[in-house]
Amino acid sequence: MARPNQARLNLAALRHNLALVRRLAPRARAMAVVKADAYGHGAATVARVLAPLADALAVACLEEAQALRDAGISVPILLLEGVFEPAELQAAAQQNLWVTIASEQQLRWLEQSRPARPLRCWLKVDTGMHRLGVEPGQAPAFYQRLKACPNAADDTVLSTHFASADDLSSARTARQLALFESACQGLPGERSSANSAAVLAWPASHCDWVRPGYMLYGNSPLALDHPNAQPLQPVMTLVSAVISLRDVAAGESVGYGAIWTAARPSRIATVCIGYGDGYPRMAPAGTPVLVNGQRAVLAGRVSMDMITVDVTDLPGVGIGDEVVLWGDGLPVGEVARHVGTIGYELSTRMPARTPRVVVVA
Ligand SMILES: *Cc1c(COP(=O)(O)O)cnc(C)c1O
Repeated sequence: MARPNQARLNLAALRHNLALVRRLAPRARAMAVVKADAYGHGAATVARVLAPLADALAVACLEEAQALRDAGISVPILLLEGVFEPAELQAAAQQNLWVTIASEQQLRWLEQSRPARPLRCWLKVDTGMHRLGVEPGQAPAFYQRLKACPNAADDTVLSTHFASADDLSSARTARQLALFESACQGLPGERSSANSAAVLAWPASHCDWVRPGYMLYGNSPLALDHPNAQPLQPVMTLVSAVISLRDVAAGESVGYGAIWTAARPSRIATVCIGYGDGYPRMAPAGTPVLVNGQRAVLAGRVSMDMITVDVTDLPGVGIGDEVVLWGDGLPVGEVARHVGTIGYELSTRMPARTPRVVVVA
């Protein structure tokens, strides 16, 4: 048998999760965010499923959009960071891409370029994230310059991005939304502000376009359980298998640095997945995994190609038994909490070494 690691993909879950977006935001158009190789799932695979169902796609940059065009994806694609140099505007026009305009420099490049046709622009307003975008007070002036610019299509969208939409107790999202509304006052363009967390929990933010990413992959970005997130189905299930089993006596340690010591006579299963396969090295002892569908916990450090799991309480574990690291039955966000990160990072960091295998088309 070949090395058994797989990032299994359930593409029906993608369709199901997009349908949930539609249900939660019935009056908005849906832009499916597939940046960073569709959060590690495989951009072309994901885009082929979502392109016919979404109203547009979004990626970070021209290279990511180009890869989707090369894969035969023809729907509009927004560049969320806009262009990085003026020459990219020509390519964006040729490829029917939409561009974010988030700064004076990006607007000036557009005004001074000669793209083959006008580009649809998303004017990004900084309402408190303080990362990208123009000052709220500058939004009308930027909007008018786009209107006057022959290289900008007539249908500029106004957009903003939330800093804390995953935190339902924060007042920041409502404050950003109010600032966004006042910045856009009197401007006729469509509006967009909602990421996944806002799709799930902030209906007032849905406006004309929602921009879900993470939730499409079946995961909730919300800090707490939420009924709207309940129906989400994970798209990726990361699986490996047991390749070795041993009994260690109380007092013996396991793994690099001998940082884990058996407090009782223990049965240790070695699983052939490590940080070289996308499993985070910082996962501490106690991080859950599923062995034959039952919970067990890490014991000892994560190696490059292996982990060790305490299966003392799971009788009958054998060589070749399936181990789920996250996905079906074990949300990636739960694993991420043990690691001190978010599920976004775990799925996005999946290396090419781990094959993506479509198990449900
Ligand atoms: C990544 C991104 C999104 C999607 O965010 P999720 O939390 O994954 O839903 C939406 N809008 C912008 C501008 C982004 O960069």
